[in-house]
Parts: sequence; C-alpha cells; structure tokens
Amino acid sequence: MTPPNPEVLPDERPWLTSYPAGTDPDPVLRYACLAEAWDARVARAPHRVLVRYFDGALTAAQVDAASDALAAALQDRGVGRGDRVAIHLQSVPHYLVVLLALWKTGAIGVPLNPMYRGRELRRLVDDCRPVGVFAAHTDAAEMTAALAGSSVTWVIGVNDRDWQTRNDDRVAWGAASSELADLSALVAQYAGHRPRRPAVGADDTALICYTSGTTGPPKGALNSHGNVLHSAANFGAWVRLGPDDVVLGIAPLFHISGVILNAATAVLNDAALVLVGRYRPEVVLDAFAEHGVTFTLGSITAFNALMALEHAGADHLRRVRLLYSGGAPVPPATVEAFQERFGHYLHNVWGMTETTAGGIAVPPGRRARLHAADGTLSVGVPTPGVVVRVVDAEGTGLPCGTAGELEISAPQVISGYWQKPDSSAAALPQGRLRTGDVAVLDPDGWVYLVDRLKDQINTSGYKVWPREVEDALYEHPAVFEAAVVGEADAYRGEAVVAHVSLKPGATATADELHAFVRGRLAAYKRPRRIHLVDELPKTATGKIRRQELRKRD
Ligand code: AMP
Repeated sequence: MTPPNPEVLPDERPWLTSYPAGTDPDPVLRYACLAEAWDARVARAPHRVLVRYFDGALTAAQVDAASDALAAALQDRGVGRGDRVAIHLQSVPHYLVVLLALWKTGAIGVPLNPMYRGRELRRLVDDCRPVGVFAAHTDAAEMTAALAGSSVTWVIGVNDRDWQTRNDDRVAWGAASSELADLSALVAQYAGHRPRRPAVGADDTALICYTSGTTGPPKGALNSHGNVLHSAANFGAWVRLGPDDVVLGIAPLFHISGVILNAATAVLNDAALVLVGRYRPEVVLDAFAEHGVTFTLGSITAFNALMALEHAGADHLRRVRLLYSGGAPVPPATVEAFQERFGHYLHNVWGMTETTAGGIAVPPGRRARLHAADGTLSVGVPTPGVVVRVVDAEGTGLPCGTAGELEISAPQVISGYWQKPDSSAAALPQGRLRTGDVAVLDPDGWVYLVDRLKDQINTSGYKVWPREVEDALYEHPAVFEAAVVGEADAYRGEAVVAHVSLKPGATATADELHAFVRGRLAAYKRPRRIHLVDELPKTATGKIRRQELRKRD
C-alpha cells in the first residue's frame, strides 16, 4: 500500500488559508441537545419574530409555547425518547412546532417527501416504524389507507391556512377536516402545558432522513442532535448569520438542505425564517421583497425558476446579502446570468443527507475557482471542522489533481443508517464517509466534483435511483426491459429518461407507460421521456450499457 500523499493529510488542511478572517477552524459544541440550544435561543430574544408566513408572524416565545403544548399532547399519546414520528408536510410553520415538540420529548423526526404516495410511503414507514404521522388534512385519507396495518397508530392533520390570514390565491391551499385530530386544535387544547423533558445527549438521534430512494432497501440516515447542532452552528458562522438576517426557506424542509441549512441554521443563529409552503416561483419572488430577505440557500433549479419570471429583477432581491446554491451541479453560465439579472453571486455549497447537509462551500464574498481542465465550478473548501480526502478504491489518499472518491469526516457526519449495520460499515469505514462523488482537490484544498460513482440521477437537486423507476416500469405487463438514466437538462440539471423494450408480441405506447407510472411514483421521479426501443444496448456479460444510453438523446 502506498502511503497517503502528505499534501492531502488531514492535519495539513490547506483550505484553512481560504477561510474568511476570524473563522474558528475547530468549533466546539455549546449545547448537549437541540432542545437546550432552542431554550437558549428563546431566552436571548423571546419576543423577536422567529417565523414569518405570508402576513403572519410568530415570535420565539409563541413557537416555544406551541411546541410545549404539542409535546405535552404527544406525551399523553405515549410518545417518548427514541420513538419515531413521520412528518409528511410542505414548508409550513407547523414543521418547526412539530420538530421542537419531538426534540423536547426526545423523539425522532422522520421527514418524508409530501409528494410520496402509497407504497413509496409505506416502504419507508415499514422501515423505521413511526408511531404517528403529521400530514396535511387533505392527504390524510390516502395516508390512512396506505398505512393500514403499519406501525402508525395516529395521524395528526395540519391545516396550512393556520397562522396567516392572506390566503394568497396563487397557493393551492389545503383544508381542515373534522375526522382527524388537528395540530393547532391540539396546541390550543394543551395551551400552558409543559412536557416532561427527558435527558437527551448529542449522540441521540434527532432526525432519520431517508437518502433519496435507494437501489436496495431504504436507508435512513441517523442525524444526531450533535450532527444537527454542528451543522447549523458551523454554517451559521460561515455565512455570518445573526439577528438582522431574514432567511427564506426555499429548500424544502423535508430535504436535509432545507431543514438544516435554512430552518435549523436560521432558528439557532437568531435570524428570522420566512416560509411560503411549497416552492412557487412567483410567491417566492414576492417573499424576497416583502420580507426583506437577506439570505437563502436552494437548488440551482429554484434560482433558475426565478430567472424564468419575466418581471423578476434586482429590486426584488434588494436586501439580499448572500445566496448559496447546493444539492446539484451549478453551471457557471447560470451563475453569470443570475448575477447579471439580480446583482448577486450564487455561492456553491456541497452536502449530503449523511453530512447533515453542509460540508464544503465557497467562502462568502469569494467566487468559486474554476477547474482548469473542464471549467467546472469548484464546490468550495471544507468548512470548519470538516476534513476531506480523495481516495482510491482501497481508501488510500490520492495526490492533489488526481480524481478519486471524495471522503469526508466531520462532526456533522452521521454514525450510520437506521438498523443497517452492513450499509453503515460500507459507507463509513473508520467513521469516514465515502460519498460516491468523484472529486479532485487543488493544492489549496478547493474541491471539484468531476463525476459520480453512484447511478443516482440528480434532477433539480432531488435524487432518483434508476432502479426504483425501472421497477415501476417492469410492473407493466408489456415491458420486457427498462433502463433509466439521467440526461443533461438545462432547467433541471438532469432529466429522468427511460429506455424501454417490449415483450415479443406485446404492445404499449409511451403515453400508456407514462400514465402507468403516474400512480406509482412521485412526480419528480417520473420519466420526462420514455423511448421505446427494439433492444437495449448490453455488454458481453449482459449488463445494460447506461453510459451509451445517456449519450443517445
Ligand atoms: P442528498 O443526500 O440528496 O443531499 O444528495 C447528495 C448528493 O448531491 C451529493 O453526493 C452530490 O452528488 C450531490 N450534490 C450536493 N451538492 C452538490 C453541489 N454543490 N454540486 C454538485 N453536486 C452536489
């Protein structure tokens, strides 16, 4: 075995020289758990607005009281430390109340994509066995049917019209239902109640976040209280977030980037958080102007969608001081076009569910370096507390300039997946995360992603595993073989595209197949195009040549 190259030895950390002056390279945790950090936040400024939602606003003290009441109600239902509770919601203020209530009781939040339906939902629920679910009233009937016979013993409904009065008619609002318990009714019923607070430590699990679909059984990343506290504190310090900041939650709260780098980071660093439900470009644009947004982080598709609005301009973003884009590759031309139009540079940030969102980012106020060979924008430098290496298949460190798998160790890296010792050991040898991203480091420690080892498709920052889409297609009786790939797409980064051959004598049109998968897959996973072919290209050993299919369009 060759010794690791000294240039990439962790203790050298060449990237520290790129840090803004005054950055602490080795931050330490100040709190044992999230509820304790939250208590400190409330004590610092109880009456300052914590969350804005259209024309509504809640102070930290109001959110504290609501989450106390909900926590007491949950304890009456038997929810306690280590219990899982699923959250199937868009980005509404209820999300914060639910998370805080769970963390106060020592329970674990399981964010689920609210686009998930039927069996997509069921396989995750059967994996982590939550005791209950928070869901929009409008989804509750479907949810109850999908979860019959599962571990779930209660569903608490959420009405997204709560805590605002504007009822903006561009939003597809839900409705209340009398059949279910209602979150805000429970909060009213338990007003003034305080939950018992069990001892919770940094290693307790705060969230189980499913890695966006998988090739095999679902993998729930165990994001601990310590992971979340580190990620939120470190990123908050990196972007210098404080009481004068207004953070717009454009990354969905059901994804790690939204719940950590928008919500937890804003809340724990004294900023106000603006939520507008599901992402709608026109509503988001107005929210920037109305609330004087100073900071946000979202996928490049979210920023692209703003550029697609003809009337959008620099004036809407006049109070902005810093923008970050992460979760998917950021094309340099988009960054240029955005800056020309809105006057703001989009800083790149890289993270994964397994790194509790953050990890590598362009320093604020700096422009990303460009990769000399292909002009790719660097994703930035490892942020405080983070150490990266580029390794070969055996885990040996590679010299700068050589492509290999990106490996990361940091206090925000998970210790494993929910009840998956084998997958955990494979992904985290010696506690260092193998990311599945192929990267190159330059001598100053700037990181460039050059490829992916995983077959995963990245569409607008949402990750899609081809297998899941292929499996849905295979359920159609006419389908003989199916191969799903990601193809370059100017708007989404990558588009999901299926190549399908039919059984001899069978007939089906692409339209029929589109309709067939509609009921089986969340919208973002459905193929944008389905090509019917006579035969799929294969290797001598019969493996489908995905590489070749990717180039076909
Ligand atoms: P997720 O767990 O859904 O957050 O997905 C993590 C994956 O998203 C990473 O392993 C990368 O492949 C991809 N990713 C995240 N941030 C970036 C970025 N700034 N540029 C390119 N790809 C990214």
